[in-house]
Amino acid sequence: MRTVTQEPDEWVDGFLFVANRSILDFLNTKLVLAQVPTELLPDFSALERWLIASGIVRSAKTKSLLRSWRHLPEAAVFLKGLIAFRERLRDAVLRMEVGLVPSDEFLQEINTGLVQHPPVTALHRREGKVVRESLFDPKRPADLWASFLNEAADLLSEPESHRIRQCEACVVHFLDTSRKGSRRWCSMNLCGNKRKVAAYQRRKRDNASVG
Ligand SMILES: [Zn+2]
Repeated sequence: MRTVTQEPDEWVDGFLFVANRSILDFLNTKLVLAQVPTELLPDFSALERWLIASGIVRSAKTKSLLRSWRHLPEAAVFLKGLIAFRERLRDAVLRMEVGLVPSDEFLQEINTGLVQHPPVTALHRREGKVVRESLFDPKRPADLWASFLNEAADLLSEPESHRIRQCEACVVHFLDTSRKGSRRWCSMNLCGNKRKVAAYQRRKRDNASVG
């Protein structure tokens, strides 16, 4: 059995990263913490922090650009649209988790979005090899759509869609990349251990009442 270690990277700057796909981590920016539904992206500054914590935004240039957008009405409009998109994406993911396909309307929405905000890739030379990476160089808030739409399109066409799952004990979604495909919890630290302890105590109680 794999030993359970404290995984320091699960939370970065107050955001949860356990999903193995950044678009699912994005879905998990609406959580239930201490039984209270919690919106982790209440304003554009929070989204800015999430984009940096997720590693989507790395360059100093883009970081300072995002900072300059904090109070722009355009940024607030973008965030409102993005949050609404996140909830439609949640519906699509919930459908996929029970073996259905996302709705035609949602596929159409993504297709239309991809035409308006096409993801751009660029070739880089790295360690003697050429790699192709997405070129994330937004000039205005709406340009951030390209990254979210591209990731969402990848998720919806994920070949191993049966590995997209919701934690058995909470609202967190993840892509199970374990070798056996038997991951059940968002994280051992958050839900797994709690559940195991509860099951153990239940068994002990049941045994005691039988004996
Ligand atoms: Zn959980």
